[in-house]
Amino acid sequence: MNIYADHAATTKTSRAAIDAMVDCMENCYGNPSSLYSVGQQAKTALENAREKVAKILNCDPKEITFTSGGSEADNQAIRSAAYLGAKKGKKHIISTAFEHHAVLHTLKKLEQEGFTVTLLDVHKEGIVSAKEVADAIREDTALVTVMYANNEIGTIQPIAEIGKICRERGVLFHTDAVQAIGHISVDVQRDAVDMLSLSAHKFHGPKGVGVLYARKGILLTNLIEGGAQERGKRAGTENVPGIVGMTAALEEAAKHLEEHRKHLIPLRNRLISGLSKIEYSELNGDPENRLPGNVNFCFEGIEGESLLLLLDDLGIQASSGSACTSGSLDPSHVLLAIGRLHEVAHGSLRLSLGEDITEEEIDYIIESVRSVVERLRAMSPFWRDLINGKRPHVFKQYQTQLLQ
Ligand SMILES: *Cc1c(COP(=O)(O)O)cnc(C)c1O
Repeated sequence: MNIYADHAATTKTSRAAIDAMVDCMENCYGNPSSLYSVGQQAKTALENAREKVAKILNCDPKEITFTSGGSEADNQAIRSAAYLGAKKGKKHIISTAFEHHAVLHTLKKLEQEGFTVTLLDVHKEGIVSAKEVADAIREDTALVTVMYANNEIGTIQPIAEIGKICRERGVLFHTDAVQAIGHISVDVQRDAVDMLSLSAHKFHGPKGVGVLYARKGILLTNLIEGGAQERGKRAGTENVPGIVGMTAALEEAAKHLEEHRKHLIPLRNRLISGLSKIEYSELNGDPENRLPGNVNFCFEGIEGESLLLLLDDLGIQASSGSACTSGSLDPSHVLLAIGRLHEVAHGSLRLSLGEDITEEEIDYIIESVRSVVERLRAMSPFWRDLINGKRPHVFKQYQTQLLQ
């Protein structure tokens, strides 16, 4: 069996996206800025894509800027809002402790430029409180940036509530919706969002292309200077095939969103329930308020990296929050943000399911994880100390909260 269960890292490009891209490369190869017909065909393809993306997000096509992906959109949104605020003497930004690094590292840079950043707690459920956002807003707050859904633990944030608060208080609101778009319903009007980032490769589109939505009237700061593409806000010849492929994938995802959600949620719950039966394990993040395809567990006495390698041998591709492979022994900042101790944060496993996953595959994953965890524990001196009582257990033997 081969099961790709790392859709939060990236997804396989869909047939529809590939076909749209090939057709575009063969037939609309001109430069959209050129005036002759093959250039104008590319221009038309680009503007049609912009209209379709705008329709799905429920905004005006003029509010859509195409970027090289989620990271660029996050960087540009946050810098733009920060510099707009600074012009009015507002240099305070509110965010959360478990944002993607594209957000956190941009905020770090802005701190070095004299901005003040408040990172809100996300509690053990992995959900920020809208009331705490409201309480953190000051006279000099320029921006609130909160992700729509977390990329590691999949928890969904109260975006519409936060949007309403920010609108009332006159503070700009950005959301990194990279994990949400194509998986759960997002609407920039309903959610009162001023700026939003998305990335094509997280919903079966190609890599290296994304969108920054910015509400009319918000002046964007350029990250890339040059030509007048994207209304002068993002220079460089547009990635027309990528944009067209992204749009095809987005339309498909939007069309099947409910159907996929209904299919995935019971299977995700079956997986959570099955893995909860492994002793000394715990689900990370709220059990219900999470993305339809996200399951993330910590296992005591396990190294996440070894777990991944053994699962790969069994044909399962998953991910872990620990970053030992990159030479750093730091556990995931997301798991630490929800209060996990270092020793269990190292033993984490993220399974992000594809829309076509079957019950049989879920059961295979449960059995595989159970056997691999047992094997690794049998070899671990750390585990021996735990069961011999030389070290205290972090978790209860079985998680009490089991889903049906
Ligand atoms: C993947 C991801 C990004 C980065 O998107 P890229 O297109 O890969 O740059 C940003 N934020 C979140 C939440 C993500 O999951």
